[in-house]
Amino acid sequence: MSWLTNVVLPKIRAVVTTTTTKKEIPDNLWQKCPNCGQMLFSRDLDANLHVCGTCGFHLRMNPTQRMKLLFDDGVFTTIELPKPISDPLKFRDTKRYSDRLKDAHAKSGGPSRDAIVVAHGAIGAVPTVVACFDFDFMAGSMGIAVGDGLLAAARLAVMQEAALVVVPASGGARMQEGILSLMQMPRSTLAVEMVKEAGLPYIVLLTHPTTGGVSASFAMLGDITLAEPGAVIGFAGARVIEETIREKLPEGFQRAEYLLEHGMVDIVLPRKDLKETLARLIRLLLSPAPSKTLVRTAS
Ligand SMILES: [Zn+2]
Repeated sequence: MSWLTNVVLPKIRAVVTTTTTKKEIPDNLWQKCPNCGQMLFSRDLDANLHVCGTCGFHLRMNPTQRMKLLFDDGVFTTIELPKPISDPLKFRDTKRYSDRLKDAHAKSGGPSRDAIVVAHGAIGAVPTVVACFDFDFMAGSMGIAVGDGLLAAARLAVMQEAALVVVPASGGARMQEGILSLMQMPRSTLAVEMVKEAGLPYIVLLTHPTTGGVSASFAMLGDITLAEPGAVIGFAGARVIEETIREKLPEGFQRAEYLLEHGMVDIVLPRKDLKETLARLIRLLLSPAPSKTLVRTAS
């Protein structure tokens, strides 16, 4: 038995461990389209702006990918946001909120301290501030940190006389922060008001999904509201509404196209056209008004 345990077994172990530890294929090489189930090669998906080549479904973009798409030449500067008050209510459900925050940090892996990232740069050569939600961070839920982020974005836009673009992707209020989370609705509304009072454009790009307290505050206050195709936008979930009113909801209810039809959204546009349209809108809204001599009619 000794040659078996001393010689053969270690050799087998060595072979097994090297093959399992040597990870030649990265985990994220392929992604599955959540709509049609097609396996998509990550490199193709990147080149196609994270839109499924088979069914046209717009997959989620993280804040970095989104900023690269929106800013001129993909160049932008992320700003440091105030350090959020961690777990103000010492909340615990099946897990401590502080532990959930730690997990969210590890999972999101991006630059976000919480569910929002703010950056400034130029769009269409016009100074612009973009505040983008990170859905991977606790479903983009809005707590104090997100309110802080929106206020910081608004202040920066006013200071730089820049346009403000907000890109929500959120499940709504951060339940673990209770009433403090709900207070972010008027707080974010005030942030938007600051930008409007300064006469600067405020544009919202609704992405999948924009729901709950986010849709009931700053997300619906844009001077111009854009939306991505197929995005779910609404306050309460469709199933809850259906069970409450006991009626079948119309087809496409709470989708971007349905909201466009009913006047809640101004433009639904595919991601490939997003940058150009946004640049055109910002240029139009921020270009100086024609001087009196230009508009005076000859008489
Ligand atoms: Zn698809």
